[in-house]
Amino acid sequence: MTIRNAARALIALLAVALSVTGTQAYAAPEASAAVVLTYDASGAAEFVDAVDSGAAVWNESVANVRLEPAAPGARANIRVIADDGWPRALTTSLGNGTVWMGREAVNDGYNTIRIAAHELGHILGLPDIKPGPCSSLMSGSSAGVSCTNPYPNAAERSSVEADFGGGALAGTAPSGPSVHRD
Ligand SMILES: [Zn+2]
Repeated sequence: MTIRNAARALIALLAVALSVTGTQAYAAPEASAAVVLTYDASGAAEFVDAVDSGAAVWNESVANVRLEPAAPGARANIRVIADDGWPRALTTSLGNGTVWMGREAVNDGYNTIRIAAHELGHILGLPDIKPGPCSSLMSGSSAGVSCTNPYPNAAERSSVEADFGGGALAGTAPSGPSVHRD
């Protein structure tokens, strides 16, 4: 084989290798679709907008799970209810449960969008992290009434991404029922 032919063969091999790599890189994003969880805020009374905003915060913050309103009458993964107690969440399994938008904390002055995003965070597998700063969503009420930040921090985002990674529930979060008051 002449040097020129060897060089041509090498270039041909590189071209094949590059095209294979390119195909894989292009296909990867399609393989990891987000897990879609539906929520029913029809019982959230005056907090419907806050719940929608809290869900939108999560949709902006993570890629592996999406929160979408359930069709009218359809069974939702997450039920959101307004009541006069303290805000809380009952997680029946990762991605499923009930959130209460308690008026007790709202009357104390806590931000309703932060409450909604925090309680949805419990349904997405996050525990309370208290006491904590306003930059942490799961620090909840411990960050004080003046804290209006509804966004999860980097650690909270990556925890949810890990639990919902690969287009399926990864199962690293506690699978049994858990109750979080606030
Ligand atoms: Zn909490």
